[in-house]
Amino acid sequence: MSTATLSIDLSALVRNWRALDAKSTCETGAVVKADGYGLGVARVARALAQAGVRKFFVAATEEGVAVRQALGPGPEINVFSGHMPGDTDMIHDMQLTPMINSIDQMLRHVESLPGAPFGVQLDTGMNRLGMEPAEWAALREIAVQQNATLIMSHLACADEPEHAMNAQQLAQFKDMTSGLNIPRSLSATGGILLGKDYHFDLTRPGVGLYGGAPFADAEPVAHVSIPVIQCRDLEAGETVGYSNTWTAARPSRVATIAAGYADGLLRAMGPDISVYHGSEACPVIGRISMDMIGVDITDLGEDPRELDILTEDQTVDVLAEAAGTIGYEILTSLGARYQRRYLS
Ligand SMILES: *Cc1c(COP(=O)(O)O)cnc(C)c1O
Repeated sequence: MSTATLSIDLSALVRNWRALDAKSTCETGAVVKADGYGLGVARVARALAQAGVRKFFVAATEEGVAVRQALGPGPEINVFSGHMPGDTDMIHDMQLTPMINSIDQMLRHVESLPGAPFGVQLDTGMNRLGMEPAEWAALREIAVQQNATLIMSHLACADEPEHAMNAQQLAQFKDMTSGLNIPRSLSATGGILLGKDYHFDLTRPGVGLYGGAPFADAEPVAHVSIPVIQCRDLEAGETVGYSNTWTAARPSRVATIAAGYADGLLRAMGPDISVYHGSEACPVIGRISMDMIGVDITDLGEDPRELDILTEDQTVDVLAEAAGTIGYEILTSLGARYQRRYLS
C-alpha cells in the first residue's frame, strides 16, 4: 500500500467535547463545518451526537444536508451562511435552521418557508457575517414574533484573551440582545476559555474538538502514518529532492515516504519538522514534493516500513507553526487521498 493513513480518534474527539462542555454550565454544541474540520463529517457528527450533542453548526446548507443524512431527524443543524438563494428546498426537506444574516435573508425565509425555524446572526464588530445594529433594530420584532431559535455573534480575537476587542464585542452583543427572551450564543473554542461572561446559553466549539489551539488541553484527534517507498545510501556531497536544497554532510541513508503537499503536508513546513519512528525523530530533508517527502534515517539504524508525521507530540499546531499558519488550516488541508481509519 502506498497511501498514507489518517487515523481519527473519535473517543479523543468526544473527550475534547466533554472537556469543553465542563468549562461552562450552559449547553455545548459542536461546529462540524468543512467536513468536520477535514476529519469526515458523518463519523464525527455521529460520534458527537452519541455523546449527547444536540446542536450542530455548519457553514453551508449543503454541509447541513450531509449532517442530516448522517444523523437522521432530531438534532438541530444550524447554518452560518443563513438562507441563500437556492437553499429553500434543502432547508425545508432536511429541517435545517439558517442563521439569518440580513434583511434580504429574513424576507426570503419568512416568505418561502413561513413558520420554519431560524436563528439570527448579529455583527458585533468582526464585519464578516450578521446584521448591523440598524438592520437588527428593523427586524427585532419580527424575530421575536416568529420565535427565532437563537441569536448568535462571533468573536474576532478570542484566541487573545487580553485583546480589548473581546470586551468590546461582549458589550455590543449584550447591548443588541438585552431584554429578549431568545437563547444566545457568542463563543467558539476561544470564547469558552474567556470565562462565564462569554458563555450565554450555548457555546459553539470547533477546533478544540479536533485537538487544536487555542484549547491547550485538547487531546490530539488526527494521526498520520506514511509508508516508506524506498531507501537508499548517499555519499557525502550528494543532494536530495527538487532544487538540491539538502546536501549530505556525511554518508547518509535516506528514505522516501509516500505523502506530500497534495496531502496537506504543506511545502512551507519544509525542513523545520521531523517524522517519527516510534519516539525517534528523523529529519525531513529537501523540498516536500506533491506526493513524496525525503527523510534522513541515517541515525535510525534500520529501514522503517512507515513513519509518522502527525503524532501526539508533533500536533497540528506544531506543523502549523512550521508552515507559518494555524492548526485549522492543517486539519482542513489533509485532503482526500488518505486511507482513513476511525478509532472509537
Ligand atoms: C468556525 C466557527 C466557529 C467555531 O470556531 P472554532 O474557533 O473552531 O472553535 C464558531 N462560530 C462561527 C460563526 C464560526 O464560523
